Amino acid sequence: MTTDLEAENAALLQFLYACPAGLVEFSAAGAIGMVNPAAMGLLMPIAGRPFVINLFDVMDGCAPELRNMIHIFAPPQGTVCDGHRIVTGRGERSTILACTIVKLTEDRYVATLSDVTEQVARERRLKQAETWFASLLDGVDDVAVLSLDANGCVDAVTPSATRQTGFTEAELLGRPFEWFDRPDRATAMPLPGEAIAVARRDGWYLHEGWHALADGGRYWCQRLVAVRNEPAGAAAGYTLVIRAVTRQGRDTADLRRMLTRDHLTGASNRAHFFETAERQLVRALRDAGSLALVVLDVDHFKRVNDEHGHAAGDVVLREVARRCETELRPEDIFARLGGEEFVVLLPEISLMKASAVAERLRTSLASEPIVAGGIELRITASFGCSALDTDPAASLADLLAAADNALYNAKRSGRDRVELSHPDQAAA
Ligand code: GH3
Ligand code: MG
Ligand code: MG
Repeated sequence: MTTDLEAENAALLQFLYACPAGLVEFSAAGAIGMVNPAAMGLLMPIAGRPFVINLFDVMDGCAPELRNMIHIFAPPQGTVCDGHRIVTGRGERSTILACTIVKLTEDRYVATLSDVTEQVARERRLKQAETWFASLLDGVDDVAVLSLDANGCVDAVTPSATRQTGFTEAELLGRPFEWFDRPDRATAMPLPGEAIAVARRDGWYLHEGWHALADGGRYWCQRLVAVRNEPAGAAAGYTLVIRAVTRQGRDTADLRRMLTRDHLTGASNRAHFFETAERQLVRALRDAGSLALVVLDVDHFKRVNDEHGHAAGDVVLREVARRCETELRPEDIFARLGGEEFVVLLPEISLMKASAVAERLRTSLASEPIVAGGIELRITASFGCSALDTDPAASLADLLAAADNALYNAKRSGRDRVELSHPDQAAA
């Protein structure tokens, strides 16, 4: 009997070990009991060290909500979350995990983790395609058709294109089609060549964004780049269909919001921030321009939650986001990195100017109390700044680390203050 049980246990262990999904067994306090190699492979890059002890500690930077989800899950057992999405890492190393947690007993939980980065990107593209095809049947829109050569430059236009954009044929011809993009903080523009590369790979590329008008204005549109194949099979060129979206404005705005915004604060979400920041960085490097990051973290925020409840904490986070956004330019990106930590991406801004922006944000938060549940709460935040002009060879990860480090110094030297990655620049 014992040997049967032992054999069964051995078989189970073997299965857990070889299981391609990451499995982690942990206590209500997050202490990890068992972790299989697949989970180890996913958790180690997040932890930044070759061992993991507490799941909550490891995930604090990317999924601080886990702690809370476990805490508020009252049933004695059951599914705490199913396929909960977690964005880990930053920039190029960003990974999306799907996390399912099952509560087995009062103090025993099992989490399965799998890397769904590719899947999410594919889903997003599918969703866009669905919207596109669904709305094509939705009535007559103003559709413009252009032809692109093998490099993605306009080589022929129909009258619909000149009518829709106001540009003359001569102004359109020869331009890379991305030239007509007019991105803002809610839309990320594809890198030059990216759309064509995707279209060549998949047969089509779909993008939503602002398109330039000849009079200097812009309009919201959906663009479909479809490959025109030569009989030999090589891509001869592309057809670009631009569909002006006005009547479906609300739907597309909702869709755009869903993909790019943090649901609580309305700030940009992490994924959108990293996507946009990588692009802006490439552009800044190419044009020898600058770009600055300001990272901010609300001071003693845990106290707000502890003393006034989680709902009051949520009100504070929303108001922090609102106040910051009103201080920023339309081209700046304000994003929630997680918990009560935010980041501002400031295109074309030097470290010194970034410190002035951060100072403005700091004052705006500290000067007026925030009213939550009828109570006036005084809150402050600490700020860390970094920029390309003082770190010209920095990657996005480097800039974030430098801003994080400055933020840490701000916390250490008393909070409610702004620190720079190069403190000597402050006095300059
Ligand atoms: P410090 O000044 O050092 O930054 O201290 P702190 O208390 O702000 O920092 P700490 O990281 O200890 O606490 C952050 C808290 O934020 C803990 C977590 O429960 C809470 N939190 C994270 N996300 C949310 C959220 O979405 N809503 C609310 N209300 N609280 C959240
Ligand atoms: Mg804090
Ligand atoms: Mg924090």
